[in-house]
Amino acid sequence: MTAIRLDGKRIAGEIREDVAKDVAQFVASGGPKPCLTAVLVGEDPASQVYVRNKSRACEKAGIDGRTMRLPAETTQAELLSVVQGLNDDPAVHGILVQLPLPSASNGGNGGEGFDERQILDAVDPLKDVDAFSPVNVGLLMQGRHRFLPCTPHGIVQLLHRCDISASGKHVVVVGRSDIVGKPMAMMLAQRDGSCGKEVANATVTIAHSRTTNLKQVCLSADILIAAVGVPEMITGDMVADGAVVIDVGINRVNDKLVGDVAFDEASQKASAITPVPGGVGPLTIAMLLHNTLMAAKLQS
Ligand code: NDP
Repeated sequence: MTAIRLDGKRIAGEIREDVAKDVAQFVASGGPKPCLTAVLVGEDPASQVYVRNKSRACEKAGIDGRTMRLPAETTQAELLSVVQGLNDDPAVHGILVQLPLPSASNGGNGGEGFDERQILDAVDPLKDVDAFSPVNVGLLMQGRHRFLPCTPHGIVQLLHRCDISASGKHVVVVGRSDIVGKPMAMMLAQRDGSCGKEVANATVTIAHSRTTNLKQVCLSADILIAAVGVPEMITGDMVADGAVVIDVGINRVNDKLVGDVAFDEASQKASAITPVPGGVGPLTIAMLLHNTLMAAKLQS
């Protein structure tokens, strides 16, 4: 079997066009121009690229994409006060604190390192377009979300637009981060389709670094979602015949981007698979734009 390639880039393009149309309509009907402000602390090259890409994507969708650049030595108190200022600014609808914040060894918080959780918790839940705040995580858990976290929401859109339903299927999510693995699993376990009917009512297993016999667990998946951060660790022999494989990983190896899945091997077993790059990554930005428009609507 050779898998169908799930073209996240194309789908993200469609979503971005839809968002741009909705933004134009919202502004034409008297709404404010949606504004996303990214807070970038320090000089991490990858973060700089991510923030630049997000800002460009905003502009293309008719969203005001601002970046606030702060030196690594900014203190925790100063950063909290910047976030508070953005919370209080009615012209700013979405706030994104680019992670990771500089570590202690990179001079973060005057050499002491940041308390990332405290910074994220300080973002006004109505402006929390990443959906990281405890309020938004709690609402998601209870099936009454305001914003869905961007990467898992991108995966939902991908499944939806490729006519793949997770309902009644066994989905194995490898990785339990607060950003990808945990919210993804939660969205798949919803009873009522509040996160999209394609992802309701799945039977979900969350695997992680302490999972014993990971290969057997993965082989039992109808849909396998890898969000691990280890290049090509999901090999072909871990994929069941006909499974759908979603690769969230973005790893730089010898100046090349590779996923968490060994693409060529897995493609021989899977019925459908996302490539890296061009799979889940572009969808994450598309859903960030979607959330920023939603935030502007919620605040208007
Ligand atoms: P984290 O490092 O926060 O989490 C990784 C998870 O993988 C942890 O739960 C960890 O387990 C688990 N893990 C690590 N090694 C193994 C192993 N050998 N076997 C099984 N599980 C393992 O990563 P993120 O969730 O933030 O990101 C994961 C990947 O996705 C990265 O490559 C990242 O770059 C990419 N990413 C891509 C995005 C996109 O837009 N496409 C967006 C966000 C992330 P434990 O909890 O036990 O430590």
